[in-house]
Amino acid sequence: MRLRACHPDPFRPVASPVAHSIAGFWTFLLLTVRSRMSLVKVCRQYVPQLVLLVLLANLADIDLLFGIGIGASAGALHHGFTHSFAAALCVALGVSCLWRIAGTFWRSAALYFLAYSSHLVIDFFTGTKLGWNSTGSGIPLLWPCEKDFGSPLILIVGVKHKDFPAVFSVENLHSGLYELLIFGVVTAALLLLWIRHQKNHVMSHELETARITTTRTQSNERIP
Ligand SMILES: [Zn+2]
Repeated sequence: MRLRACHPDPFRPVASPVAHSIAGFWTFLLLTVRSRMSLVKVCRQYVPQLVLLVLLANLADIDLLFGIGIGASAGALHHGFTHSFAAALCVALGVSCLWRIAGTFWRSAALYFLAYSSHLVIDFFTGTKLGWNSTGSGIPLLWPCEKDFGSPLILIVGVKHKDFPAVFSVENLHSGLYELLIFGVVTAALLLLWIRHQKNHVMSHELETARITTTRTQSNERIP
């Protein structure tokens, strides 16, 4: 069993925190889909929940700090244990013990698992260029199995982070804009579904209330 050896290419492109944070927001939409408030009100009222889910969606990249901790580069231990479903499960169960964000323990754990795992899915589809080219560096999804998994189909172009000029390069600007476009489109589609589901929920609640009121009125009328 291993945590992971230092990676031969610690500066390989990775999906940016923007993509991971947006994915965290998607899980927040799932948490609040049954609320009867507008999106703005929901975001204002549930700021701690939103922040926590966004943090969990980014948490796997905490291993960037591990490399610094051992005196190597930031990416030396990147894409290790924290990029596995085992880590997602540990974090989900641990956080659910502390805060049942969705009411029950298991519903909360499922939501935390989803938020954390969104990171793994994004990294799975991240590579150096778009298309069917297997340019992803792979992540140990099934840790402690040592095999790295990466999609042959690359949907997200990672950003470069080797040094200052690389971070602020034109290539990274293109990658960032592409991420915003793709994740923005998915977010817009999810928001439409969220609003539609909310309307249906409110409508069914009103119908149920009207039915109960009618039944009560009828039974009161029957009493002599
Ligand atoms: Zn990552």
